[in-house]
Amino acid sequence: MDCLFCSIAAGDVDADVVHRTENVVAFRDVNPQAPTHLLIIPVEHVESARALREQHADLLVEMLSAAQHLAQTEEIDEGGWRLVTNVGADAGQTVHHLHLHLLGGRAMAWPPG
Ligand code: 5GP
Ligand code: ZN
Repeated sequence: MDCLFCSIAAGDVDADVVHRTENVVAFRDVNPQAPTHLLIIPVEHVESARALREQHADLLVEMLSAAQHLAQTEEIDEGGWRLVTNVGADAGQTVHHLHLHLLGGRAMAWPPG
């Protein structure tokens, strides 16, 4: 299977990796939308949040723990941060491997575009 984020997780495609455990990898988005814009992905290929099942419970907790940890190391925890995961065409999902966008470092509008 040809998947960009599987390749990044495997180290076959370069990325600015800021966090890595056995199950989760985080790296800087190549087209940042905020001063901090990280992508947090599972090493396991999961297509999107739509494909999450009970078996992924621990994995999800690990991804959220990574977000908490990274918000601190990126020094955006005090100001606040946003997690986004796009599912499908209307949401604008372009890479079909689950990822959490961790955004921070500036004030953000609501609702999103
Ligand atoms: P989506 O639109 O699927 O929610 O988010 C995909 C994200 O992946 C986009 O924000 C895009 O900038 C980022 N992206 C796409 N290709 C690459 C790449 O090769 N390297 C990195 N670091 N980010 C990428
Ligand atoms: Zn993948």
